[in-house]
Amino acid sequence: MRLVFLGPPGAGKGTQARELARELNVPQVATGDMLREAVANGTPLGREAKAYMDRGALVPDDVIVRLIAERLAQPDAKRGFILDGFPRTIPQADALERLLGDLGVSLDRVSTFHVTSNPPKHENVCDRCGSTLVQREDDREATVRKRLQVYAEQTSPLLDRYKKRGVLRTVAGEGKIGTIHADIKKAVNG
Ligand code: AMP
Repeated sequence: MRLVFLGPPGAGKGTQARELARELNVPQVATGDMLREAVANGTPLGREAKAYMDRGALVPDDVIVRLIAERLAQPDAKRGFILDGFPRTIPQADALERLLGDLGVSLDRVSTFHVTSNPPKHENVCDRCGSTLVQREDDREATVRKRLQVYAEQTSPLLDRYKKRGVLRTVAGEGKIGTIHADIKKAVNG
């Protein structure tokens, strides 16, 4: 199963991609997580990406496409994958098509999400384990605004492309995590 999760920041893509990837036994390929790891490790990629990420802008397409090409060439991606946070621009979607075309495969589904809101029951405390929640560096208000704007301008045009291809499925991201998970499974199989 080759899937893309496409939705605005905060829609819950990461949470849902993690769970479904585990069930399908395919890797969750999250470019944001990969970049954050590179930043934390101070690699050349991390040093290049950090300034873009801190201001809520997209990292240049060629950097991301190289990252994805390397990741999808790993043996575990042969079984399929869930792309979480990629593609985010038309050039990235074009590059993905070329990559998959070279492998003789194509996308099965693209799932998109309505914006969701799932605040913790107690402010700054994790519902699940009770530990203190920390805000991601790029989750500050000004940066979130910028990330939403970037989504609207550069990423949402992809919806039209995947709709035309007949692979787009829309899932309401509001409500319980388990309910949304079930909806995604229906959308992916339908
Ligand atoms: P995310 O965790 O997916 O919201 O990604 C966090 C940040 O990483 C984004 O705001 C971008 O700066 C960068 N990023 C992640 N994925 C991509 C991508 N596919 N293209 C460009 N930048 C990306």
